[in-house]
Amino acid sequence: MKRSRKLHLLRRLSQALFLAFFLTMPLFNILRYDSDSKELYILGKVWSLGITDALNNGTLYGSGEVALMIILKAIIPWLLVLAFFPVMGAIFGRFFCGWLCPEGFLFEFADYLNRKILGRRSLLGKNNATNNADLKGRGLFAILAILFYLTVPPLIGALLSGYFIAPSRIWREITTLQLSTGLAVGMIGVTLYIIITSIFVRHIFCKYVCAPGLMQMLFGWFSPKSLRVAFDRKNFSRCTDCRRCERVCFMGVKPRSTKKEINCVNCGECITACREELGSEGGLFSFSFGGVTANHHDTEVPIPSTSQKVHNPRSRDISSHWCVK
Ligand code: SF4
Ligand code: SF4
Repeated sequence: MKRSRKLHLLRRLSQALFLAFFLTMPLFNILRYDSDSKELYILGKVWSLGITDALNNGTLYGSGEVALMIILKAIIPWLLVLAFFPVMGAIFGRFFCGWLCPEGFLFEFADYLNRKILGRRSLLGKNNATNNADLKGRGLFAILAILFYLTVPPLIGALLSGYFIAPSRIWREITTLQLSTGLAVGMIGVTLYIIITSIFVRHIFCKYVCAPGLMQMLFGWFSPKSLRVAFDRKNFSRCTDCRRCERVCFMGVKPRSTKKEINCVNCGECITACREELGSEGGLFSFSFGGVTANHHDTEVPIPSTSQKVHNPRSRDISSHWCVK
């Protein structure tokens, strides 16, 4: 494995593992609501306020105790859940979006398929295929895309339905081909949602719609110590102006620009791209907690003029990299 690509492969691994965790949580009763028994499962146990048990056991003595149980078992846990994304944002910026979000992972895969089939990342974007070799095997990728959208979204729909329908019941209904209305609606709804957002919406959703993303963005923006991608301004004369860092950014951020930019998801792809260009030790981007960053400065970093640009014989096209794109 190339050293310069370690960060990227680590991100793909974390995305895949979190997607698997997110989809299989109901199977292990880590989190699910059973609409038949009306029970909420959390971490393998049925969650309850415990008031009924205490009443039956005769261990509940007054309204103060009831209020305390509600605060401890309902209000505080929900406040902790609600605080998750603001706290994540204040410490790690939009790291969750770039490294864990299952939807972002799917959007990036859709970007990749689009590039392979159409030569551009988005359906409506300009054609950024650099040469015909980029589109080699586009027929094969088109078949792969059709197979993917016919099979994976319904499977995800079935797994996500497990958050509300007992997984054993889902399995029974699928294997006997007798889908209940709830499961059918879940599978069809999720399938349509994934297809529409993956093909037409993609990172526009991340930028303008996703509530957890917006919360992380807001708190990361105000926090002076949140995780950011820093640009090594002292050594920017080494920049070859290859623009790899811009081309790999699926959020449309210009990593070298110093205009305030709130859409960076700390994915680190610009770090990888620059290391590929300048060598694993020579990249101009790095992660930093509240450090100098290209995206949070008030003054513009000048881009090297043509005479300043460094010719890098290592520079090569990277448009065919699934991992980078
Ligand atoms: S600027 Fe870099 S870290 Fe931020 S979203 Fe773009 S590629 Fe990812
Ligand atoms: S990838 Fe690195 S060398 Fe290339 S334009 Fe970006 S900062 Fe400059």
